[in-house]
Amino acid sequence: MDDIRPQTSRFVTSRPRRALVVVDVQPTFCEGGELGVEGGNAVADRVATYIKEHRDRYDVILTTQDWHIDPGEHFSDAPDFVDSWPTHGVADTPSAMLHPALADIDADASVKKGQYGHGYSGFDGVDDAGRSLETILTDAGIGAIDVVGLAESHCVKHTALDARRNGLATRVITDLTAPVSAGQGEQARAEMRDAGVVLLSTADL
Ligand SMILES: [Zn+2]
Repeated sequence: MDDIRPQTSRFVTSRPRRALVVVDVQPTFCEGGELGVEGGNAVADRVATYIKEHRDRYDVILTTQDWHIDPGEHFSDAPDFVDSWPTHGVADTPSAMLHPALADIDADASVKKGQYGHGYSGFDGVDDAGRSLETILTDAGIGAIDVVGLAESHCVKHTALDARRNGLATRVITDLTAPVSAGQGEQARAEMRDAGVVLLSTADL
């Protein structure tokens, strides 16, 4: 008798390993912070709930933090809110810590960025062992990432665009982020779509 077992296994493509990257959910970017985004605290709560309910969707959970030591022209006393900003995300200050809502997420790695420059992208960051986000993702065999956090129009966008440049399948979960302004959010979403970033909401997942 011939072996009639269906020979499917060699054709099955395993799903890519997926990471959730939680960008800059810090009090400095929430209401009451130095550079507060409207809806920031609500994003923090929703991200925490999402991770609690859907941690099994991810092989790795990572966080990024703006962590400015001497960022040069990133800070200005007369900021233009394009290339210069009021002081925010100062290293080792309470408002640069992870948002208290995320206290229990138990991230696999955390990177800090912008120590000596703008640091808009999570890919500019390193963890306490000096590993870049790219190294952490590569070492974990990650092929796909979901990006959430603050702000959609700035650090979420830059992180998602860099993820595409690194060849990662990239999604932004739009109800787990908020832009600095509605107009900048719209522009950021157009740029991300053009770069092949998939925009979707938790209801679509
Ligand atoms: Zn900054």
